[in-house]
Amino acid sequence: MGNIVKQVAVLGSTGSIGRQTLEVVRALPHRFGIIGLAAGKNIDLLANQINEFKPRFIYYQDRKVQPRLADAEYEFLSLEEMASHPQVDIVVMATSGKWGLSPTLAAVKAGKRVALANKESLVMAGEIITNEAKLNRAQITPVDSEHSAIWQCLRGETQKATQLILTASGGPFYHYSAAQLNGVTTEQALKHPSWRMGKKVTIDSATLMNKGLEVIEAHWLFDMPFDNIKVLIHPQSIVHSMVEFIDGSIKAQLGYADMRLPIQYALSYPERLANPQLPRLNWDTVKNLTFEQPDLDTFPCLKLAIEAGRKGGTYPAVLCAADEVAVELFLSQGIKFTDIAKLVEQALEEHQAISHPTLEEIMAADNWARERVIQLVGGDNP
Ligand code: MG
Repeated sequence: MGNIVKQVAVLGSTGSIGRQTLEVVRALPHRFGIIGLAAGKNIDLLANQINEFKPRFIYYQDRKVQPRLADAEYEFLSLEEMASHPQVDIVVMATSGKWGLSPTLAAVKAGKRVALANKESLVMAGEIITNEAKLNRAQITPVDSEHSAIWQCLRGETQKATQLILTASGGPFYHYSAAQLNGVTTEQALKHPSWRMGKKVTIDSATLMNKGLEVIEAHWLFDMPFDNIKVLIHPQSIVHSMVEFIDGSIKAQLGYADMRLPIQYALSYPERLANPQLPRLNWDTVKNLTFEQPDLDTFPCLKLAIEAGRKGGTYPAVLCAADEVAVELFLSQGIKFTDIAKLVEQALEEHQAISHPTLEEIMAADNWARERVIQLVGGDNP
């Protein structure tokens, strides 16, 4: 047994998941300590976090900007060095985008527990990451609420599940027609009905791309064929996902929609810890739980993602990259909401895929897709 206080490195500590991870650690100081903090450009918030948690290791992207730090000794490490450092017990991968790939790989190669919130790692490089995790006995504990739910439902079972059922809130536009969707604004798209999340994932929730990425992640995390992964729209966001077994029995995990719960479980597993700050579901406010089939014609991103996942190779990398650029263009009001799916589809159609790609080939596909989407909208880099 290691230390009672587990040493946690949070990569992406100033983002939504990073900040909520620090809330969990702050509430449970007898169980978790912060040994490393890494962030991109939000230097002021990072400096506050460093001054509060006094980590040994720090990283920030722009070294020309000096954060205001109290007098203490800090060691500046690269993301990969921090993710694989022998003194780190748990790596929380909360960076967004493809920058999460290489540190995630470093962490699994070092046999760490990786509390994984970075979607791109498994979507773009699921084969490489899961193989290395097996090889090095690294444990990937999912932070996403849906995968955490599935993982909790699988505990104690000795046979493989027959079906995974991912729930989706449906986002703010779920009952919109194709014509209505055409005119939605960035402000409308950024209003998520039930979860507290970053901008990119909020838009991805509105297009259902987020659910498509989660299907691909579930495929890798739980070694489940795409045919056996189902998506249901569940606007109340109380059932976080379900698992069906060989006898037809279905288990579900429920709870108040708060990311701190799956984050905490990814850190504390196999234990559950009492945390008075985690809200409880109030059954007086629950009128009904509804489930319906997703509308794949009005929300084509879900279908595109599942197809890209099924085809495998470098297709999921192109999906991620094209979507990221398209979402940025939508946020900067360069394109319409419905153009996101069109651009992703076009990039996937044109892509010359490579099967069983190396990390370099994945990154090359990512670059190609970014450039292609910018060309398709007829502009330079926004
Ligand atoms: Mg999710």
